[in-house]
Amino acid sequence: MGGFGSGRQGGGRCTDDLRSLDVRKINRAGLLTPGRWFSWQWTCNGETTATISLQVETNSVVLDYRNRSAHHNGGEWEPMRYTVALDRTPCGFGGERLWWRCPAVGCGRRVAVLYGGRVFACRQCNHLAYASQREAADDRATRRADKLRDRLGWEPGIWNGDGGKPKGMHSRTYWQLQARHEAFVGMSLAGMARKLGIVRGRLEDIDAAFDRTN
Ligand SMILES: [Zn+2]
Repeated sequence: MGGFGSGRQGGGRCTDDLRSLDVRKINRAGLLTPGRWFSWQWTCNGETTATISLQVETNSVVLDYRNRSAHHNGGEWEPMRYTVALDRTPCGFGGERLWWRCPAVGCGRRVAVLYGGRVFACRQCNHLAYASQREAADDRATRRADKLRDRLGWEPGIWNGDGGKPKGMHSRTYWQLQARHEAFVGMSLAGMARKLGIVRGRLEDIDAAFDRTN
């Protein structure tokens, strides 16, 4: 057994940057035989946007691809290779259903579809990764705004407003620093508004649950 197959198409969506790996689709294509090695690709308007290679083992699949992300290695291509466990559950008429076990650390959820990001993981893990990335970006913006405030000799803390042009600083430099400060403050405030929105959403959920039980 074995061999390399290619030309498989993963998904047709172009706008979504999450590539999905549906174990049912791959299984229906008859590719999940131990020893088999094939590539799976995503296309958009007839052009290949991403390719990964999969090596099937008895109860797992090894994913092999390269990832390019601004958050790691400064935008360099990063080789990725890891094992995703397969799980089988019986279904009607003696058949069996295949599942991925989410490979994210501490997860292991049994799912039909994995979504890549840097790592292929279940939907919940992807949401968490996205949220923490956003949060890190917001925090960075706040820190950068404070660094600029320091250069401008302004009181620390974006809530303290604009402290004016320091004596001896060129107007041009001042306007540049001030504009950058504005931009970081905007990002930081947008992040805070998002967090407040999430908190409000959770409170509404709790209220709704409370109303149902009373
Ligand atoms: Zn997961």
